[in-house]
Amino acid sequence: MNGAEHYPFTPRPLPYPANALCPWLNTNTVKIHHDSHYAGYIKKLNDTLKNYPQLHHLPIEALLIKQAFLPEAVRTDIRRFAGGAFNHQLYFECLTPAKCSKISPEFEKIICSSFGNVNTMISNLKSAAMSVFGSGYAYLTSDMSGKMQIIILYNQETPVEQRLNPLLPIDVWEHAYYLQYQNHRERYLNSIMKIINWKAVEKNYYS
Ligand code: MN
Repeated sequence: MNGAEHYPFTPRPLPYPANALCPWLNTNTVKIHHDSHYAGYIKKLNDTLKNYPQLHHLPIEALLIKQAFLPEAVRTDIRRFAGGAFNHQLYFECLTPAKCSKISPEFEKIICSSFGNVNTMISNLKSAAMSVFGSGYAYLTSDMSGKMQIIILYNQETPVEQRLNPLLPIDVWEHAYYLQYQNHRERYLNSIMKIINWKAVEKNYYS
């Protein structure tokens, strides 16, 4: 997903204005999440890679997949910061103004072949997101055969480390919703389901 991007990484701009997801996600929540949390991961990743020129050609996904080959002194930091950058890039790409949040008939068929129907997929995704204890994600993924599955990841783990294709991350770190919803994670989840960019999720399925 990161193409030719490599060190020094720069934060990707939001693919919509920061107020475009209102009222489901308010401007301040989106801005701080993107400009401070996500951009912070990019900065920390660059700082960590600075003294390791042998890693400067690698895109974020390669840094995650090739962890065993990373210098031990920075392996954990790279995993955290590259994971944070990866997950947030996908998260912001997978959101869109509510009026654009539609599942195509073709993609609906694929969802149905894995979950029976769309509502089951959404309700399983929400239950998974509710059950994350602490910081992490509920993640819609697909395997090599194209079958979709929902997994739970903690901190900044990523599906690519498990050789799963990442389709849609639901960020349930408190920073994703606390400003607007305080501790009401379920209200945040009900809102976020109204602003999913299913076109982007479908594109991820085929990439
Ligand atoms: Mn986040």
